[in-house]
Amino acid sequence: MSEALAENRVHVRAPGKLNLFFEVGEVQSDGYHDVASAYQAVSLYEEVWATEAVDFTVSVSGTVDVSGVPSDDRNLALRAARLVAQRIGHSGGVHLDIVKAVPVAGGMGGGSADAAAALVACDALWGADLGTTELHKLAARLGADVPFALMGGTAIGTGRGDQLSPALAKGRFDWVVVPAEEGLSTPEVYAHLDALRARNDIAPPVGAPEVDRSVLHALRAADPVALAEHTRNDLQAAALSLRPALREVLDLGERSGALVGLVSGSGPTLAFLAPDPESALEVQVMLSAAGLTALHVHGPVAGARVIRL
Ligand code: ATP
Repeated sequence: MSEALAENRVHVRAPGKLNLFFEVGEVQSDGYHDVASAYQAVSLYEEVWATEAVDFTVSVSGTVDVSGVPSDDRNLALRAARLVAQRIGHSGGVHLDIVKAVPVAGGMGGGSADAAAALVACDALWGADLGTTELHKLAARLGADVPFALMGGTAIGTGRGDQLSPALAKGRFDWVVVPAEEGLSTPEVYAHLDALRARNDIAPPVGAPEVDRSVLHALRAADPVALAEHTRNDLQAAALSLRPALREVLDLGERSGALVGLVSGSGPTLAFLAPDPESALEVQVMLSAAGLTALHVHGPVAGARVIRL
């Protein structure tokens, strides 16, 4: 038995993500938008412990406000565990103990990270050995961002965001992440973008969404200055329109030495790209001095992994 399986308990860590580029296309007949995204996994982690149990249960705690996280069958991690059990015909259950550090409903894919962690944990706990391709298939059934939380690193996502291909990213990118006290609902932000586009307040998409080649080039060249020039998030205008106070924080971060500030995914978390770790520290200090929570993280980091004791 491996050390991670001691006492029939498995510990998995999964990262939150930032969208370095996010283009939103037309809404499809299934209600989802066609998107093109450049994801980066960053060093803000969800920890999940899975223990053998008769039923399927979950407890949630963490360094962020977890009051919005369901602890019943709506919990995405619990649904992931059930999916693995169903897939392999496992008759027992599991208790999941989730410790969250990724802001809830913050646009950093925290729930998706929990689900990816639960897939990996149950696979190890029950000795299923499903392999990457099969876990990826299960992940895609759970949500658009779950496959990326499994994969980690830096990747391009198309379709709903779940058709992934790895992107070559050299070196390390330093980010300062500013979570908001209250989350934003992802469907609400998409609906608001649709409304803004319908009113012609924002230009509608032209053609199929695609990640700007300059972004891929900047990642390959480990060049944060070039990356900052080409980052874009189509959901940003909608998130800022729903939460106008975020604009001031974006301005403050950029005045404090960040190369660029952007809304992460559907927000309201903001991410500031710094040219190096020292500058990131300065941005973090300036934002903290303004009374904001500011976390210095870096990417890319690995996806959901079993942590050996
Ligand atoms: P994304 O960027 O993937 O759209 P997000 O990061 O904005 O998502 P999450 O923190 O993943 O948001 O949570 C979105 C909603 O999902 C929460 O408001 C909550 O009701 C529900 N949810 C279900 N399971 C979980 C979980 N394990 N952790 C957090 N939220 C969960």
